[in-house]
Amino acid sequence: MSDSYGKKVALVTGSSRGIGAATIEVFAKNNYNVVINYLNSENEALDLKSRIEAKYGVKALVVKADVSKEEEVKKLVEVTKRELGHIDVLVNNAGIAIDTTLEDKTVDNFRKIIDVNLIGCFLMCKYVGEVMNKQGYGSIVNISSTNGIDSYYAYSMDYDASKAGVISLTHNFANLYAPNIRVNSIAPGWVNTEMNKELGEDYINDECKHILLGRFAEPNEVAEFIYYIGVEATYVNDAIIKIDGGRC
Ligand code: NAD
Repeated sequence: MSDSYGKKVALVTGSSRGIGAATIEVFAKNNYNVVINYLNSENEALDLKSRIEAKYGVKALVVKADVSKEEEVKKLVEVTKRELGHIDVLVNNAGIAIDTTLEDKTVDNFRKIIDVNLIGCFLMCKYVGEVMNKQGYGSIVNISSTNGIDSYYAYSMDYDASKAGVISLTHNFANLYAPNIRVNSIAPGWVNTEMNKELGEDYINDECKHILLGRFAEPNEVAEFIYYIGVEATYVNDAIIKIDGGRC
């Protein structure tokens, strides 16, 4: 449904950079008003807002919120509802990884990853779901990872567990929210973003040998698919779709 600005609304968590920012751009390009949620990077979020408002003539609301904190999630949803009237699409994109060996893994860091990647996704599905259920329509795309499906790197057990949990949440919310709200998940492989900025060239080259397309994805390649599954694929529901260039 269109709001008072004559546009649909997409909320993307953790969207000041990377896959989230690319997703904001794709929705804006398709005439959506957007909600840019950020945690720390206010300047990047404001720059993105200015750029896409000027380029696409849509409204971009910038909201600071930590998705792992229930009160902040409630506020994010309230502000969105108040300012933009409704929410057509939610993309649960905010996520963190903390790379360490097993010896260096701490319970605190494990919990932090679960809090952001899994509890954050749960809270957003819960509170945006309330809005969408009242509206009687909506679509949710949860960003998991190929690491949530298979184990490729034993040391990322904490991140992998959180992303496996996102897949589980997707199945459960798809069941709970049917038939008016579709809930799907995508599972990217390697994507060229800040999350992977510490990887060395040799490591990247070695990883590319295990990708049929021979390269990492660009954020906009993932973002275009998020838009497709979130908006255009109207009979796709409860699906978990890998976007990894083919693994070999
Ligand atoms: P990124 O680090 O550039 O983006 C993650 C964003 O989430 C950042 O903007 C960060 O500030 C935000 N964020 C972190 N904690 C938050 C919190 N508590 N509340 C709100 N926002 C928070 O990395 P990216 O690659 O763009 O990652 C986007 C999503 O894609 C993540 O869920 C990630 O796990 C997933 N993913 C990435 C890859 C990859 O190779 N880059 C592969 C598979 C899945």
